[in-house]
Amino acid sequence: MRISIDQGVCIGAGQCALTAPDVFTQDDDGFSELLPGREDGNGSPLVREAARACPVAAISVEDA
Ligand code: SF4
Repeated sequence: MRISIDQGVCIGAGQCALTAPDVFTQDDDGFSELLPGREDGNGSPLVREAARACPVAAISVEDA
């Protein structure tokens, strides 16, 4: 799995970090980023849920 976050689209709503806190976090400005080493989603079934939860569809998930 490969996750990308469009930081130009992210509005810092935080839904991704709430939904999959083992993969997503928020930077000092509140924008989403991936936790170090979790760029592959860490096998978490919550990653796709987090992408769906994002109100501006900033997260895309591809199968590697
Ligand atoms: S849910 Fe979407 S808008 Fe909110 S922080 Fe995550 S990527 Fe950004």
